[in-house]
This record gives sequence, C-alpha cells and structure tokens, in this order.
Amino acid sequence: MSNSEHVSVLIAGSGCAGHTAAIYAARADLKPLVLEGNEPGGQLSLTSDVENFPGFPEGVGGFDLIENMKQQAQRFGARYEYGLIARLEDGGPPYTVELDNGKRITADSLILATGARARRLDVPGEGEMFGRGVSSCATCDGAFFRDQVVTVIGGGDSAMEEALFLTRFATKVIVIHRREALRASKIMQQRALEHAKIEFLWNSEVVSVLGDHETGAVSGVEVITHPEGAPSDKLDDPRTERRTVACDGMFLGIGHIPNTDFLGGRVTTDEEGYIVTVKGHSVTEDVKTNLEGVYACGDVVDKRYRQAITAAGMGCKAAMEAEEYLASKLAPTAVG
Ligand code: NAP
Repeated sequence: MSNSEHVSVLIAGSGCAGHTAAIYAARADLKPLVLEGNEPGGQLSLTSDVENFPGFPEGVGGFDLIENMKQQAQRFGARYEYGLIARLEDGGPPYTVELDNGKRITADSLILATGARARRLDVPGEGEMFGRGVSSCATCDGAFFRDQVVTVIGGGDSAMEEALFLTRFATKVIVIHRREALRASKIMQQRALEHAKIEFLWNSEVVSVLGDHETGAVSGVEVITHPEGAPSDKLDDPRTERRTVACDGMFLGIGHIPNTDFLGGRVTTDEEGYIVTVKGHSVTEDVKTNLEGVYACGDVVDKRYRQAITAAGMGCKAAMEAEEYLASKLAPTAVG
C-alpha cells in the first residue's frame, strides 16, 4: 500500500450511508475510495435481522445486507481499504487526511459517513451478547422479543422511545434508570409513566448482563440500587442493594456518540458532536457541511431517525452533491 495518494472522492465510513454513497459515486465514474474504519459495516452489521429495509419480504441479515451493498459498490469500481482518519489537516480543497496507519490521502471531495456508536454500559456480558440479547435499537430488534420481558436502560428520550416501541411486542418492559427523575421530554415521560406495560426501576444501574454468551440469549441483569441514586458511585454504602432482574433482552437507551473527533473542529458540529449541515439540523434535509466539497450523511448527522434506509438516502444525496460539485470545478469558467 502506497503511503500517499490522491482521490477524487474519499468516503469515510462503511455503513449504510457510506456504501450507498460509494455505489452512486462509483456509478458516476468518480472512482471513490472507501475507508472502512474500526467497525466495517457500521451498526447495521451488528444487527441480526433487518426486517424494515424495503425489498426483503422475509427480512435480511444485517451483515448480509451490508456485504451486498459493498459488493454492489465494488462492481462499479469503488475501492475499499481499512483506515481510520486520525486527522483532517488544515486547508483544502483538496482536503488532506492522515490515517491512523500514517498514510496521507488528498481528496477533491470528502463524504463523511462515520456514523455514531451507541453508548454502552461497559459491563460484563454486554459486549458478548450485543446484537443478540443485548441491543441498542428497538426498531431493529424489538420484534424478536414478542411475548417476552425486556429491560431498557436510561432516562432520556431515546430510552422512553425504545420502551414505548417495545410495548408492541413485549409482555413487560422494565426501564432501569440511575436516578429517580427522568431526563426525557415531558410528553415522552408521561406516555411511558402511564403505560400499563412499562415498569420503572429507579435509582438503579446494571452491573452485569446474565445469559448464555454462546447463543446470546439473555436471562437477566444484575442490578444495584441506592435510595439516593447513582449507585455505582456508592458501592461501599451498606444501603446499596444488589439483585437479579429476570429478563429476555436488554436495550440500551443511554445515548449515542457521533464519530467526529478526527475533524478537529473544522466541520461544524453541535454540542453533542453531530455534524450540522448548512440548512440546519433537520437531519435528512441536507448533506452539505460548512466546508466546500465536504458532505455528511447517515448517523453522524442524523440523531433522530437513525435508520438504515434514511442513511442510504442521505448517502445517495451526498454522492450526487459531490458529483455536481466536482463537475462544477471542471466546467470551464464563463467568459464575459
Ligand atoms: P440523553 O438525553 O443524553 O439521555 C441519556 C440517558 O442515559 C440519561 O438518562 C442518562 O442518565 C443515561 N445514561 C447515560 N450514561 C449512562 C450510564 N453509563 N449508565 C446509566 N445510565 C446512563 O440521550 P438520548 O435519550 O439519546 O437523547 C439525546 C438527544 O436526542 C436529546 O436531545 C433528546 O431529546 C433527543 N432525542 C429526541 C427524540 C424524540 O424527540 N423523539 C428521541 C430520541 C432522542 P442521567 O439522566 O443520569 O444523565
């Protein structure tokens, strides 16, 4: 592998948004290079079955869907390479990025599809059963818990949304929150608090997820509770109680972390780190960033819908914008 190269379009990220951008950019003969990053395939590749992506009446495995997208992009000439952008350098266009392996790439146009990762608890059992009995996407995985008991972790809008969605399938949804008050918007709180299927376990935190690591089947969560909340800060306090809560699945609703650190503040982000597009934060509205020729798509922008299909749509838009931008750069300047 050469230690430097120039490309017309560099796509950072290989989730649904990145692959779709690659398909469109490749079909426009822009010969995109896709950097796969730490989690090739993004969050979708961690999802067992995808039942809401149009075109698959029987559903499709998350990994298979993402792999098919990659093959489709490769068929039209997209190149894939492992690489994490460590730094977006000053200046441009063309833009220069430095990868974690030391390679430097200059690109006339950049498509940022680096996604967001679900915040995790980092407790034993969580990682081992993630994508099976442990999930961070009720819309993706809720239907697998029909007539079962599930827990939802968190006290914000995401957690309430997950909990309310899960009531469609589960017999009981237990929200486990580390305080006695929710952070979610009033309307979401009210809906969740009044829902007959939702129970709350206040002042509590999960310290481990129990189940079969081989099959990914969850049997319960180990929980600590303290009457004043934040029990993990009070482990030595005799009032901290420990117990097991039986459940068949655990859903994380404790927020997401957009992958934007490498931008070093050059691309405008909001206070949570999500890229803010020129037309504002209204997610799929727009894919242009504050930098000329730099576009953003998928979960790195979208903190509302976070769906494979919306990410794909944004990836398509980003590639079409890049194509138009590059064509405008090549067009001869009109003479008065
Ligand atoms: P959030 O508002 O930051 O809430 C995260 C929740 O998870 C908080 O209750 C927090 O507890 C808890 N938490 C964080 N880390 C934890 C840990 N390690 N262990 C246990 N609990 C932990 O995140 P969000 O709910 O994803 O919402 C993010 C933004 O998107 C918000 O502005 C929200 O309004 C918006 N959003 C809107 C909608 C909607 O309008 N339909 C849906 C989803 C999200 P503490 O309360 O103790 O901090």
